Amino acid sequence: MNGSALLTQPTLVLNRSWQAICTTSVRHAIVLLYRGRAKVISPDTYELHDIESWSDLSRIKKGPQIHSVSYSIPVPEVVILTGCDVYPKPKVVFSRRNIFKRDRFACQYCGAHPRMTELTIDHVHPKSRGGRSTWENCVVCCRECNEKKGNRTPPEARLILKTVPKRPAWLPFVAQNSSLRPSWERFLGDLYWNVELDQTEG
Ligand SMILES: [Zn+2]
Repeated sequence: MNGSALLTQPTLVLNRSWQAICTTSVRHAIVLLYRGRAKVISPDTYELHDIESWSDLSRIKKGPQIHSVSYSIPVPEVVILTGCDVYPKPKVVFSRRNIFKRDRFACQYCGAHPRMTELTIDHVHPKSRGGRSTWENCVVCCRECNEKKGNRTPPEARLILKTVPKRPAWLPFVAQNSSLRPSWERFLGDLYWNVELDQTEG
């Protein structure tokens, strides 16, 4: 892979609590490093590096490197932000996808984690009886529980919600693309790796 292709590859971005918040391009990650707004996490040692110490590693580190006239640096695969508001949290949009993320792709009645195609959105207070499409009235539900519940409220159907649905303050990061790097694995939870990304509904 040539240099400019490497620069468009993804880098995982963590916030100061080591939570994955998004991906960016290798190019932008290097800009953040130069500006001192992020550090690289060495995938093998978890050591944090600034731009100087990371580029020093270019002599000993195997793997793809970015070369310019004046420097070489190993591709930063995971960076951690040093400031708190480089990426302000966006308002969480009410959408099918975000309801799935909030409920962690689990049926909120029985707790099952079936395939995405077996999950649907349930209106807790049925839509046909005036239930609204809101964060507080919509939950992820498996087909089985959905059929069992039908046009009834949870007490009528003898179902109990696992959690009280509400608007989430933030959502766990779930990648939008398939460019996953193995070095990201330890920074992302089981949920992330078990989600069938290409079936995630928008
Ligand atoms: Zn269920």
